[in-house]
Amino acid sequence: MIICKTITSLQQQLIPINQKQQTIGFVPTMGALHEGHLSLIRASNSQNDCTVCSIFVNPTQFNNQEDYNKYPNTITQDIYQLELAGCNILFLPDVKEMYPDGILISKQYNLDYLENILEGEYRPNHFQGVCQIVEKLLSIINPNQLFLGQKDYQQCMVIKKLIELMDKKGAIKLEIIPTIREKTGLAMSSRNARLNEAEKENATAIFKAMMHIKKYLNKKSFDTLEKEATELLQNHAFEKVDYIKICNATNLQEVQNTNSSQKLVVLIAAFLNGVRLIDNMQLN
Ligand code: AMP
Repeated sequence: MIICKTITSLQQQLIPINQKQQTIGFVPTMGALHEGHLSLIRASNSQNDCTVCSIFVNPTQFNNQEDYNKYPNTITQDIYQLELAGCNILFLPDVKEMYPDGILISKQYNLDYLENILEGEYRPNHFQGVCQIVEKLLSIINPNQLFLGQKDYQQCMVIKKLIELMDKKGAIKLEIIPTIREKTGLAMSSRNARLNEAEKENATAIFKAMMHIKKYLNKKSFDTLEKEATELLQNHAFEKVDYIKICNATNLQEVQNTNSSQKLVVLIAAFLNGVRLIDNMQLN
């Protein structure tokens, strides 16, 4: 695997690949890699001649400085895992390389209602920061395919919108990969590294809450289900529940009952000992 720390060196590596008209699959990450990330790398590998992974903890998408400062860094192990998974190029820039003019959000993306619901409501400017860095990365790499995890459900929709805004809809194919979970049901996440074993056990309440909602979807009101799920988290040491919402899986609009044939997804964000965890599950 080739490691590039600058945009220039990365683009140099990509020249022969483009000249040979080989395909490029791109997997953007913030590091502290786990099986979830590696499943994206493997998916890219199986469908492309060259897989590029980026590791960059993007400051403009953090609305909480402590979350940014405490973001886990396991770069030596990450490099080893990427090699094993068959990644071809790792792009590992520092903040100065990506933000030579300072850490600013310099442009506004029109994300419509997606900007203000769920993650957007609780993490102001988060998706503007995400779009800013993903646009930069896509412009540098110009991949054929972009691999994202369903774990970040709303982010997938935001990036789909970004690709449209960039006028790249025909050029970059978005691939959404299912969430990889621990045996306990806990969705793998870099932030899990900040939990001890007892907390990880409590964190499985998110999965249990989603399974509870799925099981009783047609038997109880959505209000009741969301309340019961909130109680379940509170009984497992979650100190704050940002949201538990049953939404239309296509547009993320909140839904009040199952009266129609629409596909539904439940989305959860909650804090356990200061660590904010998110997850989601398709319900029907
Ligand atoms: P992150 O490093 O958290 O920014 O994640 C990088 C990419 O990996 C995003 O597209 C995530 O949705 C995806 N991802 C994170 N966790 C998982 C998981 N448990 N299963 C599948 N994909 C994941």
